[in-house]
Amino acid sequence: MVVRKDVFDVLIIGSGLAGLVVAETIGRHLDVGIFSKGETTDTNSYRAQGGVAAAITKEDCWENHWRDTLEAGHAHNDLDNTATMTKAGRDAIQMLVEWGVLFDRDERSHLKLGKEGAHDYPRIVHAGGDRTGAALIHTLHKRVRKHVQFFNEETVLSILKEKGNCVGVKTVNKQGNIHFRYGAHIVLATGGGGQLFSQTTNQPFATGDGYALAYRAGAILRDMEFVQFHPTLFATETGTAGLITEAVRGAGARLVTADNVRLMANHPKGDLAGRDVVARAIHSVRRHGEDVFLDVTPVLNLAERFPGVASLCKTYGYTSRLPVAPGAHFVMGGVVAMPDGETNVPGLSAVGEVASTGVHGANRLASNSLLEAVVFGRSVGRKLLERPGKVFGNPVEQSLQKSPLPPTKFEIRQVMDEACGVTRDEQTLREASDFFRLSFQSSYESDDPEIQERHNMSLVAGMIANAALKRTESRGSHYREDHPVKDASWQDVSLTWSIKQTKEGN
Ligand SMILES: Cc1cc2nc3c(=O)[nH]c(=O)nc-3n(C[C@H](O)[C@H](O)[C@H](O)COP(=O)(O)OP(=O)(O)OC[C@H]3O[C@@H](n4cnc5c(N)ncnc54)[C@H](O)[C@@H]3O)c2cc1C
Repeated sequence: MVVRKDVFDVLIIGSGLAGLVVAETIGRHLDVGIFSKGETTDTNSYRAQGGVAAAITKEDCWENHWRDTLEAGHAHNDLDNTATMTKAGRDAIQMLVEWGVLFDRDERSHLKLGKEGAHDYPRIVHAGGDRTGAALIHTLHKRVRKHVQFFNEETVLSILKEKGNCVGVKTVNKQGNIHFRYGAHIVLATGGGGQLFSQTTNQPFATGDGYALAYRAGAILRDMEFVQFHPTLFATETGTAGLITEAVRGAGARLVTADNVRLMANHPKGDLAGRDVVARAIHSVRRHGEDVFLDVTPVLNLAERFPGVASLCKTYGYTSRLPVAPGAHFVMGGVVAMPDGETNVPGLSAVGEVASTGVHGANRLASNSLLEAVVFGRSVGRKLLERPGKVFGNPVEQSLQKSPLPPTKFEIRQVMDEACGVTRDEQTLREASDFFRLSFQSSYESDDPEIQERHNMSLVAGMIANAALKRTESRGSHYREDHPVKDASWQDVSLTWSIKQTKEGN
């Protein structure tokens, strides 16, 4: 039985795949508390459809997977960390199988493999057709819940520090009660920030809190201009309603215009070109008021293979051509971290989407995010087992700066859609950067979770807008209409952000 308490060896912020893998690795040996803003199913991990990428067949090898990852990432990747992740793919799948994840198999009991955009080989391991994330989270949660204490619907407002070390968190629960919980080590596994945009695949809690928490705690962030837009969200009259996994295109679906002309016919990889390329192609048609459709008629057994997509079709009454539009999906940048989670702040690790280990470069390869969460989540856990650290005494809570009200979510999204979407230019980026200047430079905090979320969103939006303004080239997901090509002088350059730099005016 888990006894409720306030002092732990390790506090994990986030119960998505990354947080749960860390918890599974350390939960039997250390006292662990794990926070989430909602329930365990309210995570992007739970929503994941396509699957986990891993080179596991005789025809494939980790070097192929590594090459595809670098090509999709426009060579902005960290080569060593990308090799570490892709090499570990086979063992990661084996470990998940041993943990009890029921991946889809053929009649000979071999793992079924899907093919997705920019992968040269079929290597996407999946479960429940297009319900891979749900299968992973249910399995992990069942294992972990016996050993760790879950604080669901408890939002972390700030990270507490003492003598430069992270030693705890300040939280607020659903009833509005403030708590201080202490731990020798804090693991940030807070996921991404798709909710900064009006059209997104992300769950409602993905407001970029982790980037803001880390920034205020003194962490260095980088590559925030690289936000991936998934090309195929299901388009409705009022916006979008969920993701159509690109595994559907891997199974034969094709993008067509209203006149049934194939949109990607001239690209060497056709409908399976990189996400950045396909998202721009769709955006360029839609910005002129015309629709783009995904023709699913070539896909055999759609309902059995992609039950989630089939149910969307049923709800909206479509059978063959589904209207699609791009939406914010994944933040490639984040808190600079090593594969074992280490950041520049003592006592703070980062893992999963919130971390920037450099494996996604300027554009993430499909299905590499779940792989990253499993492989690096395991490394973070192992490192914590080696040296868990000790709980410190009386952390000092920073006194809250009396803050003006941050912009509303609607205002934030309006500015971000306009300036930081699929295509960008100097003038709108400059306006966005001005709009968020106050929140970015002052990093305000509040005890009201709704206000705090808006402070976090404005701070992260400010980082994205400033980074996108500074990078005067186009690379991967970052496309500047006024600088439409790659510039060699930006190769291997990462823009970094930290509260120290901001205070010093750099
Ligand atoms: C619809 C969809 C489909 C996808 N499909 C795939 C796929 O097939 N393959 C793939 O590799 N990737 C896919 N991705 C991307 C992938 O799912 C995510 O990048 C990955 O799951 C992130 O995992 P995570 O553990 O880092 O974060 P998440 O799963 O997003 O979990 C974040 C956790 O942090 C908590 N949290 C955040 N802020 C706070 C706070 N202030 N206080 C307390 N808790 C907090 C949240 O409540 C949540 O529990 C998909 C994403 C989406 C949205």
